[in-house]
Amino acid sequence: MIYKNFPMVSRVIFGRGSFNQIEEILSPKRLSTKAPFIYFVDDVFKGNAWLTSRIPLSYDDKVIYVSTAKEPETSQIDQLVEQIILDYKELPSGIIGIGGGSVLDIAKAVSIMLTNPGESKNYQGWDLVKNPAIYHVGIPTISGTGAEVSRTTILTGPERKLGINSDFTPFDQVILDPELTKDVPKDQWFFTGMDCFVHCVESLNGTYLNSFSQTYGEKAFSLCKEIFLEDTLSEEDSQDKLMMASWHGGMSIAYSQVGVAHALSYGLGYLLGVKHGIGNCIVFDHLEEYYPDGVAMFKEMKAKHNIKLPQGICKNLSDKEFNIMIDVALSLEPLWENAIGKQWKKVITRDKLRTLYQKM
Ligand code: NAD
Ligand code: ZN
Repeated sequence: MIYKNFPMVSRVIFGRGSFNQIEEILSPKRLSTKAPFIYFVDDVFKGNAWLTSRIPLSYDDKVIYVSTAKEPETSQIDQLVEQIILDYKELPSGIIGIGGGSVLDIAKAVSIMLTNPGESKNYQGWDLVKNPAIYHVGIPTISGTGAEVSRTTILTGPERKLGINSDFTPFDQVILDPELTKDVPKDQWFFTGMDCFVHCVESLNGTYLNSFSQTYGEKAFSLCKEIFLEDTLSEEDSQDKLMMASWHGGMSIAYSQVGVAHALSYGLGYLLGVKHGIGNCIVFDHLEEYYPDGVAMFKEMKAKHNIKLPQGICKNLSDKEFNIMIDVALSLEPLWENAIGKQWKKVITRDKLRTLYQKM
């Protein structure tokens, strides 16, 4: 295969208040009264009637609140799947994720694992999923990761932090309602928003770039510039545009790849539990050598929004710990190949990565 033939989200609705249409979207998809809709909802919304009172529950439908204190783990997915299988006689009609990248990824992974045997860690990688997933719906409540549009669900497993990348991973339906992002705390808005910015920089400066990726990446990049550097947007416009930037950024990497920041950030995430958005920021701050213009702009955005990043997080690590992070980072070969080119192994040495990690 020379050119990838990949699926996209088959249906999407966009607009402030579009979340109100959830019932009309889901009801035709109900398979039977015994086949419930299961909603995974970020527990930040527990007790938030503004959002939860609009979740339409009938028959055996259920809301499961999930904590985002840690990023999704394979063992957590396996437990959730087992619980659903024990609790119901029939497979669900649909799995709905309402939250940030973590909850969207949980919804994707659970919908896949309900129809594929064994443990989720066995599906971390590329194209290992054999059976179509349960109908699944993504409703982002914070913008930036592109998880709403991507072909992956990123999980931390016993051996690695790696996505389940498959044709069955993308959502069947996405509801983009920017109003749902109105209460995101400022720092988190920045960190997750910067995930999108970094996706664009890594895609646009990668060797895998083609016009498909470039057109989406350039649009997302210019939206990020408008949102994070210029003072021209109303709060509502800014929410609307960041939601679309996230979408376009995700589309851009669909046909290319991420790069140096993501590879190193996965190492921090795996060893230290540093979360994706802030981890990318911590790493990206030190990547002038690879992305000079992008890093300069990032520093401008950081200063404008008065964001303070943690410093010295690798200060007290042992050789063994550095090596664990370096192993995780180096294992992400497509990311390095995209960032540096086919000869990447000549320049990306263990010493080089250690020097970078030591700065963080
Ligand atoms: P997140 O899902 O952990 O959410 C960040 C924080 O924001 C959480 O504390 C959450 O409770 C809070 N939050 C979310 N919506 C809110 C709202 N409307 N109001 C108030 N608080 C709100 O973080 P994230 O940055 O969205 O996602 C990171 C995760 O996404 C990681 O697990 C990462 O691996 C994954 N990811 C996946 C993809 C993909 O393509 N599948 C891409 C990038 C990142
Ligand atoms: Zn990312």
